[in-house]
Amino acid sequence: MLNNANGSMLKKLRSPLYLALLIPALLVCVGDWFAPMDHSFRNMRSKLDRYDAPADIVVVSVGHADSSRDTTVVSSRKLSDVLTGISRQMPYRVFIDAPVEFGLDVDGDRQLLEAIGNFGRDAALVVRNKRFIIEDSDFRSTDFNMPVPAIAGSVPIVVSSWYTNFFDYAISSPYEVTLAGKRYPTLASTLAGVPHGLFAKFVPDNRVDPDTIRTVPASAILMGNFTPGLLTGRTVIVSLEGTVPPIGYYGSGRREPIAVDIAGAVALRKPMAVYLGGIPVLVASWLLILAGSRARRKRRKAAIYALSLAVIPGLPLLAEPVGITLQPSAALFCAMIYGFSRLWQHRIRREQLTNASGLPNLMALGASQLNIGCDVVVAVIARYEEILATLPKDLHGECARQIARRLSVGSGIETVFNGEGGHFAWTEEARPLEMQLDHLEGLRALFSAPLEIGSHKFDTNIHFGLDRNEGLDALTRVNSAVASANDAMASGRAVELFEADRLAEASWELSLHARIDEGLRNGEIWLAYQTQWDMKTRRPSGVEALIRWSHPTRGPIAPDAFILQAERAGRIDALTYWVLNEAITAGLALNTMGFPLQMSINLSAQMVDKAELVPSILDIVQRRGFDPRQMTIEVTETSSVRNRPAAVSNLSRLRDRGFKLSIDDFGTGEASLAYLADLPSDELKLDRRFVSRILSHDRDHKIVSNTITMAHALGQSVVAEGIEDEATFRLLSSMGCDVGQGYHLGRPQPFSDLCQTLLKMGHVQTGIV
Ligand code: C2E
Ligand code: CA
Ligand code: CA
Repeated sequence: MLNNANGSMLKKLRSPLYLALLIPALLVCVGDWFAPMDHSFRNMRSKLDRYDAPADIVVVSVGHADSSRDTTVVSSRKLSDVLTGISRQMPYRVFIDAPVEFGLDVDGDRQLLEAIGNFGRDAALVVRNKRFIIEDSDFRSTDFNMPVPAIAGSVPIVVSSWYTNFFDYAISSPYEVTLAGKRYPTLASTLAGVPHGLFAKFVPDNRVDPDTIRTVPASAILMGNFTPGLLTGRTVIVSLEGTVPPIGYYGSGRREPIAVDIAGAVALRKPMAVYLGGIPVLVASWLLILAGSRARRKRRKAAIYALSLAVIPGLPLLAEPVGITLQPSAALFCAMIYGFSRLWQHRIRREQLTNASGLPNLMALGASQLNIGCDVVVAVIARYEEILATLPKDLHGECARQIARRLSVGSGIETVFNGEGGHFAWTEEARPLEMQLDHLEGLRALFSAPLEIGSHKFDTNIHFGLDRNEGLDALTRVNSAVASANDAMASGRAVELFEADRLAEASWELSLHARIDEGLRNGEIWLAYQTQWDMKTRRPSGVEALIRWSHPTRGPIAPDAFILQAERAGRIDALTYWVLNEAITAGLALNTMGFPLQMSINLSAQMVDKAELVPSILDIVQRRGFDPRQMTIEVTETSSVRNRPAAVSNLSRLRDRGFKLSIDDFGTGEASLAYLADLPSDELKLDRRFVSRILSHDRDHKIVSNTITMAHALGQSVVAEGIEDEATFRLLSSMGCDVGQGYHLGRPQPFSDLCQTLLKMGHVQTGIV
């Protein structure tokens, strides 16, 4: 049980759907494999559409040219002059982001302290990390140029320190930094007035265009050469370029770190300013893929898949205004894995779903979504294997295509599915049953013209199975229609309708094997005998053994129903030999009673071509000491005989041994008169469907009368079955029919009743000619 659960879990995890989630998730978590891709996306995004830096922050740039000796420090005198100039403009606050040359110029130093002091708490010193760091643990106090104690003593200090990726791009910053045991806020968080956040780090908003940061040269301040009010009420950062190396700024290459600090402040002014990476988009997109894979309707499926793609750029874009940074790469990879695996599966499936003919096969139809209000039709071509056997292999596909073409022309459908063994299936709009049957009859007529494949010509016959059970799934319906088509072929009917109740019978059919054996043992299965009468003398000349099954719970089961099932269940052989034995027992008993009647038994078409048929029958008759000449074997003229040459040879051998052969149900199947030519026989049995209508239908009258004449000309005797009244009997007699059978003359009855009937009649005519 547990193993099973584990097994199905493992199977699930190995499916493309779950791999599409697991592989990217693993790549994110173990080593952040998407970092390079995410880096490019972030760069692209920041370039695509950007906005101006906030107007309330102005940078006063102390250029290198202004510095006296060192390029990375500014003299205290100069800085004090600049600061004095700024203070006259009444700024909101001032950040001094410039290392000062302190201790060389006593006057200048005093002036600087005074100028800074004038700002009170509105001034702060910026301390920068000299190198960029990747991890928290990388913080080293020595990397910061701490201001000289004389200045630092009275002024607040803020820090600028960015985490970078391996391309040295600023990706995030802490809200505060601890140096030598003291905590300092960062410049960006101070600029934004956001000292803490949900997470320890925040990300800069690189959509801020660094070229739009308001910058005024210090010289302009000193010379009073700037727009009045430029600094008034604003945050001013006095900055000396080049104090630390430039840093990567998404969308703008390498920049002075002050640009990142401002981008950081802009981000912090939004509600969140957090980095959530690739997992949220991955999960969202994957959940949609999951939903899509479960959707049943095609259009819905497509819509959900499209949405799962749309969230990959969409979610990061939607999250942007709030300040949340999301990464699309992992989700993109997920969609790619899933997409490719689906394409691959599709290709493999397509290969699996095509037949040698290039037509889609029945599996393809079974796997498809059927429209509501459609019938599933399966056509089966009689003797298809025989046709293929006579065709060179390279024409097999052409043969199937030609049949499919005829079917699609005849029924106006586009796709015909082709199964093994001459099955062709399609779906069409359900019409009233009568119309549908007429339509199929019409299709059947299309096959009266022979198939011409290469230089070969074939006469074919076609049978249809029809499934009209809308509610069921495609595969079940296709299978049902195939079974019905096979039934139609076996019984020689044009169309067989699949009845849904038969589904309920499935379990019954499955256990039929055991039940037949049991029925034979306990006497539920028995033989009824129906007399056959010589029409001239009007006396019984023979009996036909007809199988019966009186089921204790199901009541009498018609042989038409269970013979077919026995054939399917592979039980027909045993049943037939049992009938033969029973019939012989009855025949021998009749002989001893002085009624040496001809004994007819029915042979299933499925058995006629079997190699063991003749030896088995001969063995039984010989063992029981029954004269084969007293035995008639009725064979239905049927197209479902697989191996016709073998069937013909079997029948000839039986005839040589003295058995009489009768062609049952003559005139119903496709076998025409031509059929008689190569099938050895002694007798034709006119089907009761013709016989019952000879009085009322002129056409049937003509068919029967001509068949009798023709049969006689070919040396066959004629048996008419289904005689239900005296008038029919008289008419058949006048037509020259030899033997009659039917309810009017005698119903099928148990052997004991037959004996009673015969005894009452007394004398009978011997069947042996
Ligand atoms: P079938 O060989 O054509 O048998 C004649 C059928 O017509 C029998 O039906 C018989 O009861 C029925 N019948 C006889 N006279 C009349 C009549 O006047 N009016 C009407 N309406 N029907 C009449 P049954 O016994 O139900 O058998 C049906 C079919 O089952 C047979 O058709 C035969 O194909 C098959 N079958 C019966 N017994 C066996 C058997 O032992 N082996 C095989 N393989 N098939 C059998
Ligand atoms: Ca029969
Ligand atoms: Ca019949």
